[in-house]
Amino acid sequence: MRGYGMFSVGNPGWLDKERPACGPLDAIVRPTIIAPCTSDTHTMHGGSGPKENLILGHEAVGIINEVGPDVTRFKPGDYVVVPACTPDWLQLGIQNKISFSHDAGPFGGFKFLGQKDGVMAEYFHVNQADANLAPLPEGVSPEAALMTVDMMSTGFYGAEMAEVAYGDTVVVYGIGPVGLMAIAGAALRGAGQIIAVGTRPASIEVAKDYGANAIVSYKEGKVAEQILELTSGGPNKTIIAGGNPDTFAEAIAITREKGFIANINFFDVKDILSFPAMTWGLGMADKTIRGGFCPGGAERLNALMRVIKYRNFDAERIISHRFHGFDAMEEAFHLMDKKAPDLIKPIVYTGE
Ligand code: NDP
Ligand code: ZN
Repeated sequence: MRGYGMFSVGNPGWLDKERPACGPLDAIVRPTIIAPCTSDTHTMHGGSGPKENLILGHEAVGIINEVGPDVTRFKPGDYVVVPACTPDWLQLGIQNKISFSHDAGPFGGFKFLGQKDGVMAEYFHVNQADANLAPLPEGVSPEAALMTVDMMSTGFYGAEMAEVAYGDTVVVYGIGPVGLMAIAGAALRGAGQIIAVGTRPASIEVAKDYGANAIVSYKEGKVAEQILELTSGGPNKTIIAGGNPDTFAEAIAITREKGFIANINFFDVKDILSFPAMTWGLGMADKTIRGGFCPGGAERLNALMRVIKYRNFDAERIISHRFHGFDAMEEAFHLMDKKAPDLIKPIVYTGE
């Protein structure tokens, strides 16, 4: 089968591979719509370390081609939504209430890219289909469902880790698709003032639609000063969904005492994160710093799809480019890598 991925760090291209085999609890899925992610491009550039001959992609919806003999909830032909993070629910780490994303150690639940080929292929493998696949509910489009698997799950997790509550003053760094979903998540949790940091014009429009009250440009003047001017004393909740190690340090500095700093940005293996002790109240300001990874599994997607269905949440609003045909995967991936000003999130209809 064919798949789009990387031969080695910095070398993307089409790979020919054996079709994956299906274990007793597993499923083999043919993707119908695939979305490339910034994390795929980071991986291709070596951001998570060296990798070779790997099919990329971890965001897809599709049709089941085959299920293992022990799968009870799904059958070939079913339309399914596939979480980016597919934990191994048999790991003891899950019983020990360690985050599902890290079932058997750091990022253990991230099988695509981390431990096996991804979804930018004619066929891909999903472990423990019953626990990881979600059926597409009536009233939710496949495109909206596709936005739950990573963008909504991760962005909303930023708002969850920041413990956004009614009336909070929230800053979101980054208005790519992840930051936009963090804005939406914060708004749905009842935030008061929301300030977003970024410059891409297409994203600014969506940020406002999703609930941002003001947009600050990191290209014009000091972000911290602009934010402090717009708020009385800074935010009490800050979500980092873009930027660099300096952004991390700044987020800690601007957040008020007893506030939360929640990171969902993917820092590079080479990055060093540091900040002056003063900005963390000499270690005594009750400022909580968290960083987390896209929650996965079927129930996570079911919950997010209920938000789409019953709150009329427009998850498709972040889709900026639609490509047709499996071969267009390459163009979509390069667009994601280059980050054109009109880009938010591209999707590819495989023609299945
Ligand atoms: P994008 O590249 O689309 O968006 C990044 C945003 O950050 C843009 O709005 C950009 O601004 C902004 N930005 C860049 N530099 C700065 C700066 N110095 N200060 C403030 N803002 C800045 O990324 P995505 O939305 O697709 O993803 C965001 C991050 O989340 C990535 O690192 C991605 O790998 C990661 N990720 C993490 C996951 C997790 O589970 N934790 C899952 C999925 C993704 P501008 O508007 O000017 O372009
Ligand atoms: Zn992703």
